[in-house]
Amino acid sequence: MYFTTHGLVGAAVGAATGSPAAAVAAGLLSHIVLDVIPHHDASGPRGALVDIAVGVAVLVLLRRHLGPLAWWGAVAATLPDLEVALRYYGILQPTPWGFPSHNWAFLHHRWPLPGGFLVQIPFLLLALLSLVTR
Ligand SMILES: [Zn+2]
Repeated sequence: MYFTTHGLVGAAVGAATGSPAAAVAAGLLSHIVLDVIPHHDASGPRGALVDIAVGVAVLVLLRRHLGPLAWWGAVAATLPDLEVALRYYGILQPTPWGFPSHNWAFLHHRWPLPGGFLVQIPFLLLALLSLVTR
């Protein structure tokens, strides 16, 4: 899924926990769960940069709604895709022990546009709603 989706959902699930460790675990788990759902991913560096800029901007705009646990969740939920970027640029070679939903095909399902984008909207809206009504 997009950085924006992972970040907002990670913030929402992190905020619902009671400790930084639980927020990180919830963020990482949310990344896997979202990757299992068929979705569209940014297909190159330009799309990824736009996505990251949008996601960071939304998180910054929401900052008064985000406590430390939400930030822990957001960081944990978005960080696994750094592995994808490092592989894209050849900095990291594929290994069998990377992040589960990036290494085991049965945990990562793709869906082309527009469905792969539209499927992310309910998750974005639910995460936004959860964060602003805390
Ligand atoms: Zn991922």
